[in-house]
Amino acid sequence: MRIGILSDIHGNLEALQTVLADIDSKGVDKIISLGDIIGYGPDPVACVDLVAKRCEWSLMGNHDFAVLYEPTNFNKAAEDAAFWTREQFEKEAKRDCEAATRRWEFLGKLRVRFIMGPFLCVHGSPRRPINEYMFPEDADSSAGKMASIFERIDKFCLVGHTHVPGVFMGAKEFFKPHEIDNVFEFPEGEKVILNPGSVGQPRDSDSRASYMILETKDDLTALRANFYRVEYPIQPVVEKIYAIPKLTNWLGDRLIEGR
Ligand code: ZN
Repeated sequence: MRIGILSDIHGNLEALQTVLADIDSKGVDKIISLGDIIGYGPDPVACVDLVAKRCEWSLMGNHDFAVLYEPTNFNKAAEDAAFWTREQFEKEAKRDCEAATRRWEFLGKLRVRFIMGPFLCVHGSPRRPINEYMFPEDADSSAGKMASIFERIDKFCLVGHTHVPGVFMGAKEFFKPHEIDNVFEFPEGEKVILNPGSVGQPRDSDSRASYMILETKDDLTALRANFYRVEYPIQPVVEKIYAIPKLTNWLGDRLIEGR
């Protein structure tokens, strides 16, 4: 089985469309999303509709939660973006009430955790599934945190949230995709946490959209994970962000810089 793994789309429609086209050209059996479909980006409504159409399921990210319920621990720019995003869904409700209801229902049913064979899937971490970040440097400097997180998984875990792709192995090691030639072969008897990186707002100094294709046996026994980057038309997205006063220009600039 081949499973496309998306995360942190953040209302970036151009990036999402480019990644979906790339996935289609490679061929998968299904696609899943690890959350943060919306927040920051200029096309939240279209991204929710496309994820609802193309993904088998999606997790609840902290930004989805912020728009649906309320922002928690957000800085001013992120909070403004969350409220602007919510307004877009409310505007759509006036235009097409039925479609709007479907969207709110879809967002309301986003899962906090999902178990897919040997994989626990959460947006943040197994400990705090919506909000906790697992940064690459935690493998070096936060032994207690990582041990506590790894205690909570049986085998493998998929997370998003940091927008940094890579693999945590056995609580003390982190590999960037290029360090493993963009392919990770699942080892026997070792716990592993993988992050596919962000489709719509990469933060590893590489502006290209990031995603992963997981290869498993039919019974979901893990075989390998393939990391991919694709260039997408960034400038139109940046222009849209600049044109929206409630989205700070930094949200456009950071797409260009990949941070
Ligand atoms: Zn995010």
